[in-house]
Amino acid sequence: MARKSIPEVERLKVWVRAGGRCELCGTYLLEGKLTYQDFTLGELAHIVGQEATAKSPRGMDPLPKEERDLADNLMLLCRGEHNEIDRKGSLDVMTGERLRHIKRDREEWIRRVTALKPEAGTVVIRLIGQVRGQEVELTKPTAADAVIRSEERFPEFPLSLHGDGFEVDLRRFPHEKTAGPAYWEQCKQQIDRVLEHKLAEALREDSVHHVSVFAFARLPLLVYFGSRLDDTFTVSIYQRHRSTESWCWPDPGDAPRRFVTEAPHTSHPDAREAVLLLNISGSIQAAELPEQLASLPRWTIRPQDITPSVDVINSASTLDEFTSVLRQLLSELEASHKGMQRLHVLAAVPVSAAVTLGRVHDANVHPTLVIYDRTDNQYTTALEIS
Ligand SMILES: [Zn+2]
Repeated sequence: MARKSIPEVERLKVWVRAGGRCELCGTYLLEGKLTYQDFTLGELAHIVGQEATAKSPRGMDPLPKEERDLADNLMLLCRGEHNEIDRKGSLDVMTGERLRHIKRDREEWIRRVTALKPEAGTVVIRLIGQVRGQEVELTKPTAADAVIRSEERFPEFPLSLHGDGFEVDLRRFPHEKTAGPAYWEQCKQQIDRVLEHKLAEALREDSVHHVSVFAFARLPLLVYFGSRLDDTFTVSIYQRHRSTESWCWPDPGDAPRRFVTEAPHTSHPDAREAVLLLNISGSIQAAELPEQLASLPRWTIRPQDITPSVDVINSASTLDEFTSVLRQLLSELEASHKGMQRLHVLAAVPVSAAVTLGRVHDANVHPTLVIYDRTDNQYTTALEIS
């Protein structure tokens, strides 16, 4: 029996919903890979086979015959993959349920991405290092997905090396676990190289006004990185959330959490040095301070009404709250302690708050930040930001 052909309108729907790409591997199907000529290379594959027989792949299914040639039951695929999913050996793996799932995800994604306007572009910068030998997953698709879902922005990677090379890669510098002065210095230089040359150049050429930051590295480097991001563009800062293992904000619609500042009982307006404790993801106790800091006036920022924990910063608006409390404190210090030269910062904070600290700091008006690193339960000076 001759196979009946699929109605033209249903074909059109499948091609448009798939964005002209294979729904399994993403290959663009209107152009040859060798000659770049216009071709129509895609094939429409039935999820539930066209006939309700055992011979028709996935055909033994209650789906009525008249619905089998509709777009909802068809996928746009490369010829090779169409062939493969219909082979006996793959029917147990590429089940109807799995194919439908892939198709739905893919088509929702295409629809969302094609709705974005080009001016909603954001330059993605991924800073990837290690934290005590650990790394996290942060591929281009991961960052792109977080940017599109959270901000409806169009991700661009003008600074990226070919393939999945990171924009700022700190992983090749040795002795991360014991992080001494040489480690901090090498990493700082690498950050500067990328931001001062490549980012500045990209900004000049493309007039990009928005940057999205994805960073994973030792805390002092996150602060430094934040301090090197220019004020001339808007920055969105992301972090990987432990509760969901995702870079998307876990509770985007929730009311933002609040933060409070505890000031010292007394502090002399002429004080030249002070301590800032950021107790957001954990609580640093006064007893843990290095001896030379114990007698300095001390300010603390912590969450209001809840105990510090790793997932306190759960949305972009909570990060905004933290940012404004921090900004406020730095402004007050500037107004009330004109002579203050060094602010010693000990921080138990998530990635986004560390980058924010660097970004909020203004070297022209604020005291130098002395950033401490915690190794073997001891806080030691890592680097200074002035
Ligand atoms: Zn394919």
